[in-house]
Amino acid sequence: MTFEEHVENIKKELGIDSNLQIVCGEDGARDYIESIRKKNPSHAKCLEDMYLKSKNTRGIYPWPVDEDLILIKSKNYVGTLAHEMRHVWQYKKAKDKFCWSDPCRNKLKKNLNIIIYPVSKKELDANKYARDYCKKERMEEEFNFYRWAVFEICMNRFAVLLFLIIILCTIMFPSLFFFSVVSVVSVVSVVGVVGVLMLIVTCRKKFYEEKLKSKCSLDDQ
Ligand SMILES: [Zn+2]
Repeated sequence: MTFEEHVENIKKELGIDSNLQIVCGEDGARDYIESIRKKNPSHAKCLEDMYLKSKNTRGIYPWPVDEDLILIKSKNYVGTLAHEMRHVWQYKKAKDKFCWSDPCRNKLKKNLNIIIYPVSKKELDANKYARDYCKKERMEEEFNFYRWAVFEICMNRFAVLLFLIIILCTIMFPSLFFFSVVSVVSVVSVVGVVGVLMLIVTCRKKFYEEKLKSKCSLDDQ
């Protein structure tokens, strides 16, 4: 299936209307950013930093400036296409179920986005959709990458929950936490195990990300 056929396929699957524009490649993105720079300098700068200069960002849905546009670095990134198109679906069909805070508005929101992004419901949902789409279309590398990306967000969410439980318990039962060797050892062990699991998940995701990048750059040549 070609990239354009995947676009039509996903549009049909998600029920997205046909106004959606997809700009492929870095040159197209650069032209787009220049076209909005006069009217929207902060967003142009933000897209430059978050998308063009970032090695790990393969695609972006710039909903604050254009809700009918996706920027994607290569036509080989079909999983990324599915991920970004799911964001379009979230914005257009389920807007109130997700949080829409514009990271390009100001520095505070940009920094807040860096903290929220690894545990975000929006990212989890988009990664799950991309994983299932790649599995259905038998794209092994992309399926593996998104499978581990889903695990990573789930682990991050679990770690945050664990951290909050530990903080809450320490506040509520300080004597138990500071004077009982058993509870201190248990907490340290649980935190250690979760930390190791998070490291394994992140390494697996990175492994498939690199595999995907090298396969795509070979195909692009
Ligand atoms: Zn995303």
